[in-house]
Amino acid sequence: MEHPWGAHRAILHADLDCFFASVEVLEDPRLVGLPVIVGGTGPRGVVAAASYEARIFGVRSAMPMAKARQLCPRGVFLNGTYSRYSSVSLLFHSVLRRFTDEIEAVGLDEAFMDVSGCLRLFGSPQVIAAEIRRVVKKDLGLSVCVGVGTTKQVAKLASRRAKPKITQGVVGPPIGVVVVWPGQEQEFLDPIPVRELWGVGPKTYRKLQSVGIERIGDLRRARDETLASVFGKGATHLRLLAAGCDSDAVMSGSRRKSIGREQTYPIDLHQMSQVDRELVRLADSVADRMRKNRAAARTITLKVRFGDFRTITRSVTLLSATDSRAEILRHLRELFPEGSTDHGIRLLGVAMSNLKKDGAVQLMLDDDNSEREEALFRTVAKIKERFGTNAISPASLIDDTVKPEH
Ligand SMILES: [Mg+2]
Repeated sequence: MEHPWGAHRAILHADLDCFFASVEVLEDPRLVGLPVIVGGTGPRGVVAAASYEARIFGVRSAMPMAKARQLCPRGVFLNGTYSRYSSVSLLFHSVLRRFTDEIEAVGLDEAFMDVSGCLRLFGSPQVIAAEIRRVVKKDLGLSVCVGVGTTKQVAKLASRRAKPKITQGVVGPPIGVVVVWPGQEQEFLDPIPVRELWGVGPKTYRKLQSVGIERIGDLRRARDETLASVFGKGATHLRLLAAGCDSDAVMSGSRRKSIGREQTYPIDLHQMSQVDRELVRLADSVADRMRKNRAAARTITLKVRFGDFRTITRSVTLLSATDSRAEILRHLRELFPEGSTDHGIRLLGVAMSNLKKDGAVQLMLDDDNSEREEALFRTVAKIKERFGTNAISPASLIDDTVKPEH
């Protein structure tokens, strides 16, 4: 079957609308149509998500909660229930996985998909995108917007344009799916503010502004000398961003050089017991994915971001590669810096690198216990493979509600 995507990659970016807030509304229908704001209610609390009704008042995620209260005094302010978001997120990813395994999750509510390989099976990318929207609405009750493009950069900018717009205090209907066809990238990108480019942080943006670059088109047309004088060697990279060309593949398990998982918490974790549960969850999740990819890793890296955004990473390289969930967990517990919950933990991440494929696994079990545990987790992995990720979880994950701060 011929289709206009030809040899181009067809990348989808699927992004749930106001995820945490929508899940809360789903749980409590009395909240429908109200300005719902989820986030930390402590003194340093920030907005984790806001419904469109709250956005009308100017509330945005990452805004200090105090500011949100000022803007929207009649808002419904909720602490949020992390465990609920996490399980809905798993369901969301399982819907996406019905179409392809080439999925790269970005946080709980966004994912890139490379559907190039399944166009014959399911139809064009926009048909797949529309079907994703339909199934997510039907099965999860949530609204998702999808962007389609030849690169991740373009797909992400496209999904943003598929979102509902607020004009003069009224929330419009979502466009739902925005497709940027091969060859249309420039026309699509040129009018978009350059700060929306993935890879242009506040520092780069200020420098771009200093030479009069506001839109992606300005960047594309800027003179080589101008860019080089401000960015040196980085100029080439910026030029590529402006062209919408990232060589970045969708990092599903089969192609990646590391396997990892990161979790940002809507409310900082202050108790070691919470942190430990999250380490269990992360170890379980990466071990699961390594098995699926028949990979084992020698290097385990733990990333910790504190309440004040200070971030540290610590890693250990093992003598032989492992995919053992028990072993990964043991190292994570050792890598976690003692006493550091005082400042609150905003994010935890685990990356497994130095990957080996197939048969490289030499388990180093230090006692019977871990061997039994290992056997248990292999069984769990098998059950999950057959029935989906939600079918079973280790007992220590059952009580994982993020406690309100007061
Ligand atoms: Mg979202």
